[in-house]
Amino acid sequence: MLYRLKQSGFQAHLVGGGVRDLLLGREPKDFDVATDASPEQVKRVFRNCRLIGRRFRLAHVHFGREIIEVATFRGTGDITEGGSERRIENGMLLRDNVYGSIEEDALRRDFTVNALYYNIEDFSVIDYAGGLEDLEQGQLRLLGDPETRFREDPVRMLRAVRFAAKLGFNIVPEVEEALLDLGDLLEGVPPARLFDETLKLFMGGTAVQCYEKMCHYNLFRELFPETDEILSREENQFPVVFVAKGLQNTDLRIQEGKPVTPAFLLAVLLWEPVRQLANDLIAEGEAKLPAMQQAGSVVVSQQVRHVAIPRRFSLMMKEIWSLQHRFEQRAGKRPQRLLSHPRFRAAYDFLLLRAESGEVDPELADWWTCYQSVEGNEQQQMANASRPTTERRRRRRRRPKRPLPAEGE
Ligand code: ATP
Ligand code: MG
Repeated sequence: MLYRLKQSGFQAHLVGGGVRDLLLGREPKDFDVATDASPEQVKRVFRNCRLIGRRFRLAHVHFGREIIEVATFRGTGDITEGGSERRIENGMLLRDNVYGSIEEDALRRDFTVNALYYNIEDFSVIDYAGGLEDLEQGQLRLLGDPETRFREDPVRMLRAVRFAAKLGFNIVPEVEEALLDLGDLLEGVPPARLFDETLKLFMGGTAVQCYEKMCHYNLFRELFPETDEILSREENQFPVVFVAKGLQNTDLRIQEGKPVTPAFLLAVLLWEPVRQLANDLIAEGEAKLPAMQQAGSVVVSQQVRHVAIPRRFSLMMKEIWSLQHRFEQRAGKRPQRLLSHPRFRAAYDFLLLRAESGEVDPELADWWTCYQSVEGNEQQQMANASRPTTERRRRRRRRPKRPLPAEGE
């Protein structure tokens, strides 16, 4: 791609995570290209190209399942408030589509280690911002004044946490200070963008570290206020253990190359608010299933004001939650019915986490683990053995009595 752009008369460099990760000996997640060609010009060079984004216009060039992001060099241009291509309101960068030189482009990137350019002219790395030194020292340093840069785009705070966790880098003190102060700026970020960022934080293989750092810098409470409030009251109790185990589990699955769904992860993060609300409703006389359904709806509708959740995921979360009480019903045909439910697997994994964290009796989880591993007739026996004793007694009484033997026989 770089050579193709060059042959068409443009400058083109590999930039961002691709360069950073290769220099660190890590496998880049994706590749980003910076060029002096405008998005329209990029589109003319590559047939397999789509232009995306309004706030930040980009060209996506598709190669099978791979997408390479091609960004035109950004300049600082005219910073007047209310301009049309670069718009800043109350310090927040609402639109950033003024093009400029590569030097200007380097300085408007987020971290020094993300502002390194690989140059195909002489195979060198161009460093305008001291990124190579920070890379060597394992430091994450924001370009420019931290407060101004976080105000321009508060998502950079979440990016700081994510890169620190993923790379094992230290955030330099002046950036840490700004992080500790400015978390509430995240309120001004559209929930849909926070959903994308939440997935990157929790589905990149370092969810545990991201979570711990987010809590440390008071950012978790901006994304999941209800969960944060409950967990900060609980300290070391099972709800805290549950979230920690859920995140560990996600990291492990990603390391093993197993699939993870955002629905499971979000169901874990929101379980405690849902569980507590459902218990309150049950205490008020509501039945278990409707209580769980109502609690799920209430918690999700409050959550999406902060972090959007696409419907296909929120539906699955609600199913995982609603299926939990059905694990308690082990008699008769019910276990078979639950086993064939399309969400059985996710709900069962969720039950295991609850058992591991001490919320439910491990015996229940073990029963279901065993139930799945045995043959049909043994499953039948397990279900029969689970019939409540009162029910068994009642059945026995209903059986017709054998006539008493006549006297003398
Ligand atoms: P990874 O792809 O591994 O998550 P990355 O550094 O490549 O990390 P991307 O989101 O792919 O991150 O962005 C590519 C590059 O674009 C970044 O390295 C950075 O230079 C720049 N960039 C991305 N988002 C921002 C932002 N919010 N503010 C400033 N620069 C940004
Ligand atoms: Mg990238």
